[in-house]
Amino acid sequence: MSVEYLIRQVQAYNSDADCDLLRRSYEYSQACHHGQQRISGDPYFIHCFETAKTLVELKLDTDTICAGLLHDVLEDTSTTRDELVNLFGEALTELVEGVTNISKYKFKGGVQQRQAENYLRLLLATAKDTRVILIKLADRLHNMQTLSSLPPHKQERIAKQTFEVYAPLAHRLGIARIKSRLEDLAFKYLHASEYREIANLLAAKLAEREAYTKWMVNVVQKELDLVGVKARVYGRPKHIYSIYQKIHQRGVPFEQIQDLFGLRVLVNSVGDCYAVLGILHNKWNHIPEQFKDFIGLPKANGYRSLHTTILERGQPIEIQIRSHEMHQIAEYGIAAHWRYKEGMPSKADNERIFAWFREMLAEIQEFKDPFQFIRSMKGQLFPDEVFVFTPKGDLHSLPAGSTPIDFAYKIHTDIGQTCCGAEVNGVIVPFKYRLQNGDRIKIQTRAKAHPSRDWLRWVKTARARNKIQYWLNEQNRAQAIDLGKRLLEIEMRQHQLNLKDYLKSSELLAITEKLISKKKVQPPLIDELFRQIGNGKESATHIVNLLQSEPPTTERKEKTARTPRSAPAIELEGIDLDLARIMKCCHPIPGDEVIGYVTRGRGISVHRANCPRIINEPERIVDVEWKPIENLTYPAPITVECDNRPGVLAEITTLIAQYKVNIDTIGSHRLNRETGYDQFTLEVNGIEQLEAIIESIRHLKGVRGVTRITSLSSENRASV
Ligand code: MN
Repeated sequence: MSVEYLIRQVQAYNSDADCDLLRRSYEYSQACHHGQQRISGDPYFIHCFETAKTLVELKLDTDTICAGLLHDVLEDTSTTRDELVNLFGEALTELVEGVTNISKYKFKGGVQQRQAENYLRLLLATAKDTRVILIKLADRLHNMQTLSSLPPHKQERIAKQTFEVYAPLAHRLGIARIKSRLEDLAFKYLHASEYREIANLLAAKLAEREAYTKWMVNVVQKELDLVGVKARVYGRPKHIYSIYQKIHQRGVPFEQIQDLFGLRVLVNSVGDCYAVLGILHNKWNHIPEQFKDFIGLPKANGYRSLHTTILERGQPIEIQIRSHEMHQIAEYGIAAHWRYKEGMPSKADNERIFAWFREMLAEIQEFKDPFQFIRSMKGQLFPDEVFVFTPKGDLHSLPAGSTPIDFAYKIHTDIGQTCCGAEVNGVIVPFKYRLQNGDRIKIQTRAKAHPSRDWLRWVKTARARNKIQYWLNEQNRAQAIDLGKRLLEIEMRQHQLNLKDYLKSSELLAITEKLISKKKVQPPLIDELFRQIGNGKESATHIVNLLQSEPPTTERKEKTARTPRSAPAIELEGIDLDLARIMKCCHPIPGDEVIGYVTRGRGISVHRANCPRIINEPERIVDVEWKPIENLTYPAPITVECDNRPGVLAEITTLIAQYKVNIDTIGSHRLNRETGYDQFTLEVNGIEQLEAIIESIRHLKGVRGVTRITSLSSENRASV
């Protein structure tokens, strides 16, 4: 392990390498990690060195190798971003930062295929530069090589993740040499006994196989030399996991698997590939079903080669034929494109590389979703998706711009419907927060919570939108029914009729049946009548007129007087005053400035400070204070002036209900053809709630003005 070794290796393929930068990165990383140890007890810096070594093997540019040396300094040492920028420049720092960002996403829990796919895409989306992924792969390779020093449960988790995410990632980027090593290492930990079995059998037949391979290489080489094709032939051991796959997929016992090694022929041109194929097929029998032309039909990751299996004395031997250029791509994949390049590849370079992949893909018919692959190759890889975690570490993808509400509905409709708050990475966020890649989201729910109309402005997914809309429609229906019932009740009371009596008799039902067709109506029918009154389609007056021709069959009961609620909500120098005393006149509610008024023989009554009834007698006034009492509500009458349009009243009550505020009374009056006013007595907990409601009602279409009634007489209306 020395910097000189690294520099020699780099210079072997890149004579322009910035040796000074390599030396400085090496020494800086070594100094930063000084004293730190891996779990194995090795100095930490070994890990950084080995990561860089793999990047050298991929023959990458100097920046990438230096970033490999420095890849853990931001995460594991006290080095700051600014220091890195000062010492090594912005481009190199961004690579290190990219690797650090990826490490933030901890992959917890069981790995399912879809999860792994999402995670893989998260990595691609996070890395703005493909080289970040290459560094991450090199980092992971060394972690896998040193996995034995970790406790078994960690071994399994990391091996699984490697198997499900990093090996496919290497495969997708076409880096076969990293992919097969990651697969074998992961396989070793996940299926220890199978791994050992295959490894032992391979070792047992090693000498025999090597001799045979050597002999076969010679035979093929001679055959090609004879015809005058310039080619390099060599033996290629198959990796353990691919042998295992063969056993598994084909159900062939190990002893019967004959092609434990293959041959590879490298030539100078595409034409030579087919020439070699012809020569081999001419000399040996081959298995037609196993011939594959990946030159005519490249794999999705850009892999090109001819595969054929020939039979030598009945023994199958797989031979891969490809040009040197194809071989570079096959072994190094996308990494091959950073060869011999120094510094950050320009935008044009990036474009060119991706264009190359696209071109490659254009010829691919087998690949199911080539666009998905193209996107995965781009710098900003998934601009239209955002990847987020549940608290348990499950990964979900949502459209970019989604909010915690979208996430809640994605998890489960019930969670969406009862969602009352959201935490992102441990911090409470508003519902309109836009989710970011890697966010860990915890949705808070409450049984009584429910969707709000506001949510429709924030959600991004159709699923959430539909669910919310459906809920609101259902809610509107329930409220229209309730409102219609109240309106009819009010109207009947004005004619000395009691709705309750009529509900028990048949007259109302008879009228309802006459008015409403039973088709397409949710039972009970009477609710539909109420709903139509609530929506303004039917009028309460009309119903009362019909009823008055048919008196009720049961006797009307005397209306029982409402018992005033009483609770001490006001105090005078520490003395609780009765709540009933404050409701007499101007309806003060918590938050209003209030004064006490010493009455003649009836104690102290409480008024709003500007109540017209008390101005002339200052000597009777005493100071009182609101005493906060939870869950206590106070009547607050308001007047809404609005258009005589069907449905306005229903909209107002729906809106009020969204504040979870009860409406104590409703009165509806028509001023003229166009306008009318509605009076509501709301049960609010204080001035803030009331003002919020008034403000919302003002924004409704068809509402001309809202006022709070400050005295019992409606002439004394004043604006809040
Ligand atoms: Mn590392």
